[in-house]
Order: sequence, then structure tokens, then C-alpha cells
Amino acid sequence: MDITNLNIAVVGAGYAGAAAAKALSNLGANVTVFEQATEIREVGAGIGLRPSSMHQFNKRGSAEAIMSVSSPSDAFEILTADAHRIAQEEWPEKAAYGETTRFIHRGDFIDALVSVLPAGMVKLGHRLEKVVDEGAGATLHFANGESATFDLVVGADGIKSIVREQLFSDQRPVFAGEHAYRAVIDAAGTFGMVADGNLRMYIGRGTKIYLLPLLHRGQVSFDITALNPDSSWAPVVTKEEILKTVEGFDERLVEMTRNLDMDTVNARAVYDIDPVPVWHSGAVVLIGDAAHAMCHHQGQGANSAILDAGALADALERATSVAEALAGFQAIRKPVTDELQRISRNGWTDEEIDDVFPGQKPGQVGATTATTAGA
Ligand SMILES: Cc1cc2nc3c(=O)[nH]c(=O)nc-3n(C[C@H](O)[C@H](O)[C@H](O)COP(=O)(O)OP(=O)(O)OC[C@H]3O[C@@H](n4cnc5c(N)ncnc54)[C@H](O)[C@@H]3O)c2cc1C
Repeated sequence: MDITNLNIAVVGAGYAGAAAAKALSNLGANVTVFEQATEIREVGAGIGLRPSSMHQFNKRGSAEAIMSVSSPSDAFEILTADAHRIAQEEWPEKAAYGETTRFIHRGDFIDALVSVLPAGMVKLGHRLEKVVDEGAGATLHFANGESATFDLVVGADGIKSIVREQLFSDQRPVFAGEHAYRAVIDAAGTFGMVADGNLRMYIGRGTKIYLLPLLHRGQVSFDITALNPDSSWAPVVTKEEILKTVEGFDERLVEMTRNLDMDTVNARAVYDIDPVPVWHSGAVVLIGDAAHAMCHHQGQGANSAILDAGALADALERATSVAEALAGFQAIRKPVTDELQRISRNGWTDEEIDDVFPGQKPGQVGATTATTAGA
């Protein structure tokens, strides 16, 4: 269908919102992005962009901006806590897309996605408070007193989505029973553990450490994910507490932890959401974490957001009406992300879970320890 007459609002200028804005404006739609923050920024950590995401960037015109601030990776490795390799595999989909996975700093990633948007498209300081679905369109009301009506509203407002909560599901995010401690450190401080572009995941009991090379920056993203019953959204942890989670790991990993500058460490409790039965009405649709926030074990949250953006644009291009496009979009993407949400809840063995949550099973930790505190 011709979408050049469509007025589209995207709520949220994260990875999903920025990628959707690019894809939809490429098709000629009149797009406005509303972001609650007064400046665009991301936490200090790395992220892996899969071949299918790189394919989308090529197709939508963002690839150059991404390539210049990322570096390629051929494979990922799984190792024991004492650094014995269990498995090494090439990134899947490499042959299918003729691309490899690329690693990027989260801040560079959002900057690159926003840099390719037309000037003035992103309206900062616009926190959505209320969305009213009127069938043939929807009206957005912002905390700054502004309001506006659009033919299509794309809810890309993340795991705590207001669009989801007001129109599609009142379920709260679910605590996964774990914390993630993340920092970007100099490659020189990794005692030779990062000599190539491979992602390495070291598995201990109740803790996983990820080393994700950012070779183009001479840095490494260092991520410790550990089971923890504290569900505070941004938990306050000391270096001693983090060091406890890496006891028994290779001494070089312990030393990297000891050397962390706590001012640069981002600590987050991990949350996801239960699958949302329906993502769309006739004029409003959810994408990214708003639709399907998932635990990060598979590294698929941001990638899914990018694929959503591309699939939404494809569906609008193919369909004869907005309503048909939104139904088509959900039919293509939801089975995939439902499965990723399911798999990513199974990051731990029964024994590991039992250490921290006696009597519970993987996938049930959040359900029985969920709290709305901070969520
Ligand atoms: C510890 C951790 C590690 C991860 N590692 C990986 C990884 O390696 N690979 C991967 O693919 N994914 C990873 N993820 C997941 C990934 O970060 C998310 O899936 C991704 O950020 C989702 O993008 P999004 O744009 O949907 O949501 P967000 O990034 O949350 O963006 C939502 C945007 O909406 C804005 N917003 C929210 N509410 C409003 C409102 N009311 N009004 C206006 N604006 C609003 C927010 O300010 C924000 O800018 C990880 C996540 C975590 C927590």
C-alpha cells in the first residue's frame, strides 16, 4: 500500500523506535518519534548485532553508520569457569545473509541509528502519559501538556511500556531472579583473554561471565550475570558482592573483576515479560521490548527489535490497509519472539536455581518472586 499519506507516531527512541522510524520514513511515511528523555544515551556495555540485523541495516540505509563504529566477530565460545573451552561455533545465519555478527558499544549503536534519521524527526522531552485508541487512529497525550492524533502509533517504549499497559496487557514485568553487572574495560586489562573477535561466555555455578570484544575501540564489554534474589530494578551492589559471584573463576577473570571501576559498572536486575497475547489494534502496534522483552541469555532482545522494525515496514508495504499490515506483522514476528522469550527463561540448571531459590525450577523463579517494586 502507499503509506506516503500516513502520519505515524513512534513512542520511544530506543533501538526499536529508531530503527522503525528509519524504515517507515524510507517508505515515505510522515514519521514523528516521541522520546521521554531529554537526551539520547545508553549504558556502557557492548551488544552483538546478528547477521539478520546487519541485513536489515543494509536494506534500510543504516549500515554505513553502524559499520564505522563496530567490529566483526566470526564465532562464539562457551567455556568453563576455569577457561576450558566446551564449544566454539560460527554465528548462525552467516551464510544465509552474507554478513557476520558485529559488536558495538550500546551508546555508539543508538547514536548511529538516530544519526540517519531526518533532522527534527525525534522530539525529546515527550513522555507519553496516555494513549487513546480511536479505531481509525490514536491520540497521544504527553506529560508536557501536548497531545496529537496519528493514523498509526508504534509503541516502542520498552519493557515498562505505557502503550502496552494501557491498551494490550496490564501484566507487570517479571523478575528473572538474576542481576547483570556490566562495564566496558580496556582490552589491555584482560590479561590476553581477548585476542580475537570471538564472544566468550564462561559458565560457573550460578554465574556467567561474557567477554564481548569491541576491537575497534581497544575495549571489551565485561558482563557478569548472576542469580540473585534482590529484585530492585537498579540494585546497589559492592565490589565485594560482585567478587563473591566470580569465586572459582579463572584468576584472570577474578582480577578483571577486582580491577573494575565501580563508578562505571551498570548493575541491573533482569526482568522480562510474559508473552502478550495481542500486539496490535487497527491503529496501534507494539514492537521491541514493549511487545516481547526477554532475558538476555540469547543476546536477542535488541536484534528482535531491529527485525520487528523491518518486518513492520515490509508488512505495511505489502498490505492494502493498516489493520491488515499490523495483523500480518504480528503473524510473522510473534511466533519467533514467543519462542525466544521461552528459551531465554531457561538460562540456569535446576541445581543452580536450587542454590538461590530452593524448591523452584528454571522459568518459575520470576513467576514466584516477581515484585512490582521499581518495575
Ligand atoms: C543486561 C542486559 C544485556 C543485554 N544484552 C543484549 C545483547 O547482547 N543483545 C541483544 O540483542 N539484546 C540485549 N539486551 C536486550 C536489549 O537491550 C533490549 O532488548 C533493547 O534495548 C530493546 O530495545 P527497545 O527499543 O525495544 O527498548 P528500549 O531500549 O528500552 O527503548 C525504549 C525507549 O522508549 C523510551 N520511553 C519509555 N517510556 C516512554 C514514554 N512513556 N514516553 C516516551 N518515551 C518512552 C525510553 O526512554 C527508551 O528510549 C540486553 C538487555 C539487558 C538488560
